[in-house]
Amino acid sequence: MFESLSERLGSVFDRLTKQGALSEADVEAALREVRTALLEADVSLPVARDFIKKVTARATGQAVTKSVTPGQQVVKIVHDELIAVLAGEGAPDALKIDNPPATVLMVGLQGSGKTTTTAKLAKRLKEKNGKRVLLASLDTNRPAAMEQLAILAGQIGVDSLPIVKGESAVQIAKRAKQQASFGGYDVLFLDTAGRLHIDEVLMEEVQAVRDIAQPRETLLVVDGLTGQDAVNVAAEFNGKVGISGVVLTRMDGDGRGGAALSMRAVTGKPIRFVGLGEKMDALEVFDAERVAGRILG
Ligand code: GDP
Repeated sequence: MFESLSERLGSVFDRLTKQGALSEADVEAALREVRTALLEADVSLPVARDFIKKVTARATGQAVTKSVTPGQQVVKIVHDELIAVLAGEGAPDALKIDNPPATVLMVGLQGSGKTTTTAKLAKRLKEKNGKRVLLASLDTNRPAAMEQLAILAGQIGVDSLPIVKGESAVQIAKRAKQQASFGGYDVLFLDTAGRLHIDEVLMEEVQAVRDIAQPRETLLVVDGLTGQDAVNVAAEFNGKVGISGVVLTRMDGDGRGGAALSMRAVTGKPIRFVGLGEKMDALEVFDAERVAGRILG
């Protein structure tokens, strides 16, 4: 597996002479290791670079505390800065779903875990908050995806909008809104179509749906194991659709979770939840502290 950051830094500082303050050379040598650790954790290159700049500014000239080694001190500075970026102003852990029916728009690439996450969030709202939830799939190109959402809805005991063949995504969104109002639902989840890559047609469709649906929340679902690609996806969705938060899936895998840092840095939007498996309960509120620890190894 990966060498932990403390181990990497320990060996760098062992080679350097002990001084009263962190010198520029010490910090530079250490931050080369930090950069490698970030890249190994799948943080995107520009994000890693920016991050290193911030840490350099904070670390240079800091007095080395007697009780810790210079390596430990740099690890602490990096750790604190990671938490600062990851947590931001403090992400709201609850979705904005007052004034029923509130619409939550789910966006992301195909295979990111969008449908699974939609059902997980619905289950959570039903069980933890006692909300009446309606699910609707807008994936008109993939009948199997629409079926999958209906099956998951059945499993978790929430309603899904009956599937009508031949409707466009916008037509489904309108029907879902009406059903949510007339049916007295608290929350409507719209699971939009995923594509393998970002494309114009997809973006225009999502924009049209957004304009009709007027979502209270727009959540971007991103596979936490994808590295550099995830950044482009996030920038594109945030720029063209506007997101209110991110859900990172597959955080149960072997990855170091660097996508979390990239997402935060690129979109400025909070990471709200993480997916930790295929089961319907495998969803947790994002914990900056835990992910920072994992990125550092
Ligand atoms: P969509 O195409 O974006 O709607 O993706 P799906 O929801 O169909 O998910 C694709 C696959 O990823 C399915 O097999 C899911 O069970 C799986 N999946 C989704 N979220 C997670 C997660 O957090 N961890 C793991 N290990 N698998 C997940």
